Amino acid sequence: MQFYSTNKKVEPVSFKEAVLKGLPDDNGLFMPGTIPQFSKQFVEQLPHLSFEEIAMEGARNIIEGEIPEADLLMIIRDAFDFDIPIKRVHDRIHVLELFHGPTLAFKDFGARFMALVMGYFLKSDHREVNILVATSGDTGSAVAQGFLGVDGVKVTLLYPKGKVSKIQEQQLTTIGRNVTALEVEGTFDDCQHLVKTAFLDEELNAAMNLSSANSINIARLLPQSFYYTFAYSRFAKNAKNIVFSVPSGNLGNLCGGLLASKMGIPIAGFISASNANDIVPHYLHTGHFDPKPSVQTISNAMDVGNPSNFVRMLHLYENDFEKIKSEISGISFDDRQTEDLIREVHSNHGYLMCPHTAIAYGGLKHLLKPDDTGVFLSTAHPSKFKDVVEPLISSEIEIPLRLREIIEKEKQALAMSKDFADFKAFLLDANR
Ligand SMILES: *Cc1c(COP(=O)(O)O)cnc(C)c1O
Repeated sequence: MQFYSTNKKVEPVSFKEAVLKGLPDDNGLFMPGTIPQFSKQFVEQLPHLSFEEIAMEGARNIIEGEIPEADLLMIIRDAFDFDIPIKRVHDRIHVLELFHGPTLAFKDFGARFMALVMGYFLKSDHREVNILVATSGDTGSAVAQGFLGVDGVKVTLLYPKGKVSKIQEQQLTTIGRNVTALEVEGTFDDCQHLVKTAFLDEELNAAMNLSSANSINIARLLPQSFYYTFAYSRFAKNAKNIVFSVPSGNLGNLCGGLLASKMGIPIAGFISASNANDIVPHYLHTGHFDPKPSVQTISNAMDVGNPSNFVRMLHLYENDFEKIKSEISGISFDDRQTEDLIREVHSNHGYLMCPHTAIAYGGLKHLLKPDDTGVFLSTAHPSKFKDVVEPLISSEIEIPLRLREIIEKEKQALAMSKDFADFKAFLLDANR
């Protein structure tokens, strides 16, 4: 399989090159040259297959032998060594819990798979690499955990000062070893801009091998298709029209679902649910894509004003707006509405959601059609957003042990301005 850049100004590359480069030189995003199709037999067999078998088939289709079967199986076993429960919340509304990995957020799926795949390729090449990650909260820790202690890899995390939760900050700044956290005086978009500028800087690229680990890396996107296929498989026999509601920021999660659908999983539709940063719902209603500076909300991992995977969505649909609109609905909720949703579902149905998850639930509550079965994606454990959630339910949330240990560690972060010159000087200095 060849991977092309969405800007089409560079030659297509192998999976390995696409993964190690992260971003093509023309500042586009890598996409598979063709979308492979699951066989009819595979789709029929789905209810009998395990997550591991489903992940293997999805990965095999895209990676096409660039990682031998046995190694791929080890990567998949290592990356997804946690539960993926599906629970009924009420009526035809179900939740797919994606937060049982090491950092208690769905980012573990993409980040662990990508880190293991990169580690696999780097080991065989004896290459050294600098991974730059801009994070709005959960990405950074998930990626860094995946790379922790991997030889030849240095990880630099950039997060917006004061705009991630206390627990998220502890997770980002207490990893140590080959991982450095930078506390940037700016927004998530500023962090992302620093990373993007670094990739285009000739002097930096001459001095070191830079690689990206944002949701823009194709190896992050791919595994995010596996759990849609898996969830579909658990309903396939009993429910016809499965609709997924996805709490969206950079659209990596949604694009994973679209990929599964384009590969032949008969998903009836998607809901892209957002907070006040309603760029995508606005696009779906009007056909106009108007990126804006992000605004801060209680679902901070979705505070994105210019979703980096938007162009992938367009490519998956060959720019056909009518088709996009027929398969994806958009809706947004402000903080007040988000809080109401958390309170309501907790008191009526005994299910506790983090603010991101609540937005996905809201999507189904408002848009699920009478004959459809809804699955909303739960992207983080509610205890990660304790400060927001606890006052709403007037009781304490139990914090999982893994998190309690992290909260007690000492924060280690370097202050950084949003000025590229400062960031560049830091990188050159750190790699001297
Ligand atoms: C990153 C994140 C999102 C948004 O996912 P995208 O792939 O950026 O759209 C939603 N919820 C949580 C908890 C996240 O960490």
